[in-house]
Amino acid sequence: MTDRKSELATNLANVEQRIEAACVAAGRKREEVTLIVVTKTYPASDVRALAELGVRHVAENRDQDAAPKAAACADLPLSWHFVGQLQTNKVRSVVGYADVVQSVDRPKLVTALSAAAVRAGREVGCLLQVALDAGVSGRGERGGVGPGGIEELAGLVADAPGLRLDGLMTVAPLTGEYAGRQQAAFERLMDLSTALRVAHPAANMVSAGMSADLEQAVAAGATHVRVGTAVLGVRRGLG
Ligand SMILES: *Cc1c(COP(=O)(O)O)cnc(C)c1O
Repeated sequence: MTDRKSELATNLANVEQRIEAACVAAGRKREEVTLIVVTKTYPASDVRALAELGVRHVAENRDQDAAPKAAACADLPLSWHFVGQLQTNKVRSVVGYADVVQSVDRPKLVTALSAAAVRAGREVGCLLQVALDAGVSGRGERGGVGPGGIEELAGLVADAPGLRLDGLMTVAPLTGEYAGRQQAAFERLMDLSTALRVAHPAANMVSAGMSADLEQAVAAGATHVRVGTAVLGVRRGLG
């Protein structure tokens, strides 16, 4: 094993222990939580090593980096999640490799994703990105639809050809009433998920929690955690 691969193996084992412990503490089964490793800014060789170590879900946030990486890793048994703010002019490229887009936050994006999915003959899973710090505009600073916009957007996704409504995603807010209160934020997301599932029972994915707050996400009931730094190391520059 290369040095890098054994480093990744060690980090992965640590994260696995954290998830396991959080499940035990919450009285949940380990299988209820899926680890998604966020590989943004790291090379395709890391993605390959992670796949060899048993990782099955990876996430990226910039199409420019993700598209060539996904192409280089097309032979691996991986699901690709897109977790970044998505411009409509990138949608056709993203639909070429993404199994799930976790950052669906506006009607225009739904229309573009649907057209691209139909054209590619693919079904794309969609999570609505919820901004728990949404201001009067109803949108978050880092993207996301405010809680009041979920129902309408969910209906659009559910009715859109080529798209499948899978659930909700959030990033713990840095500002507003949930600043520094990750668990409260994730519990709020769970409540919104419960409400969503009345009309859309299959939309049961709840994506929450990153390296710093995965325990709080598991405690709140998240089904998917998105972990970058704790597996791959601290990113240099923008990520
Ligand atoms: C980068 C990123 C993560 C992972 O964050 P870490 O702190 O590195 O674990 C999770 N979710 C989204 C949306 C991200 O952009």
